[in-house]
Amino acid sequence: MKVFLDSIGCRLNQSEIEKLGKQFREAGHELVSSADTADLVVVNTCVVTAAAAADSRKQIRHAARAGNARIVATGCFATIDPQTVADLPSVEKVFSNAEKDDLVSQVTGNALLDQGQLTARIPLPGNHKRTRAFIKVQDGCDNFCTFCITRIARGKSRSIPREEIFRDVEAALAGGVKEIVLTGVNLGSWGRECEEQDSLGTLIGQVFRMFHPPRLRLSSLEPWDIDGDILHALKLPGFCQHLHLPLQSGSDAVLRVMGRRINQQNYEATIKKIRAVSPDIALTTDIMVGFPGETDEFFEESLAFVRRMNFSGGHIFSYSLRPGTPAESLPNPVTPALIKNRSRRMRELIALSSSRYREDFLGHQFDVLWERSEYLGGQWELSGLTSNNLSVKCRAGEDLYNRISKVSIVRLEGDSLIGKILTLD
Ligand code: SF4
Repeated sequence: MKVFLDSIGCRLNQSEIEKLGKQFREAGHELVSSADTADLVVVNTCVVTAAAAADSRKQIRHAARAGNARIVATGCFATIDPQTVADLPSVEKVFSNAEKDDLVSQVTGNALLDQGQLTARIPLPGNHKRTRAFIKVQDGCDNFCTFCITRIARGKSRSIPREEIFRDVEAALAGGVKEIVLTGVNLGSWGRECEEQDSLGTLIGQVFRMFHPPRLRLSSLEPWDIDGDILHALKLPGFCQHLHLPLQSGSDAVLRVMGRRINQQNYEATIKKIRAVSPDIALTTDIMVGFPGETDEFFEESLAFVRRMNFSGGHIFSYSLRPGTPAESLPNPVTPALIKNRSRRMRELIALSSSRYREDFLGHQFDVLWERSEYLGGQWELSGLTSNNLSVKCRAGEDLYNRISKVSIVRLEGDSLIGKILTLD
């Protein structure tokens, strides 16, 4: 059977779709790069914002229009609103997040391969092809951010057993991956429910000791989960000098109503501790604008705090009401026009601090992992990332896709640094 796998939303969804891809291949099926040529389409949906839910519906309709394929939907939107998803054209079955592990065996009618066997990870074909391997180590969340529907869709926090993580890392490296990205809904809580109270920091150390990945990166980490073990891990060779620490708002009053376990003071103290260990680290964030009750004064306070943090990048989200969340019943909604204006101002601020961060590295040398390559005008146009998340472009006489080069940064062009290759891995 020819299977097309589609994913909307976060890196966790990406890691899950990669795992489903591996299971379909193990069951003898072929992965294809578009819905047009598929017998079966699996869509891993998202519901984090109203826009993500709309995008999930759009992708399913798009797959239905593409041809005769059967469609199976899973993920957070399919979990929160299964009937709406089941009513979309050509949807044969809906699997909630809790049922996802059985999806491949149920759809194919074959039992999954014995977990003792190692199948190398091969990147998915098409748009979801990645040089990096996203490895899910944790699911669910025990925090109570009042705007968040993800914790409702994903349930209580649970850690993936260490042995399963090791198998996934080994399979990824066997497939030639140079960068492992550990992901989870609340990644920093990995190991907390285990008897010996493990921590993410010790897991990182073990992965390095056992498998020696050229690079290891963390996806989003809640700021209150930064502990001594993570700070220690920052010094390990190969550990990417980049942390994504969602702030959501720089106003203490708004953070309180959001139910976030941080305030300006302890967020700033955490950033200082991290920069004391790794002064050049890239720190990126998520900011939500237009949360109910965010007055002009609170927004200006938030803007000033974000300016002071000097983030190297960030995602700005406009608040959208998610049914079933505690924030649904909050008074004082912000008007759409104000949300739009605040979003623009926050984006401009992040763009400015991001370009300042980039400019600081002109003339520096970095290892760059090439993640895209295209043959144009007799040369290969390459783009890739440094350990500290800088986007670098370069021209080369050969295709260096999924290889690491030592590069000198020679100039800035738009949002990208332009590099000159010094040596190859
Ligand atoms: S930490 Fe907050 S925003 Fe993140 S998944 Fe948990 S409840 Fe949602």
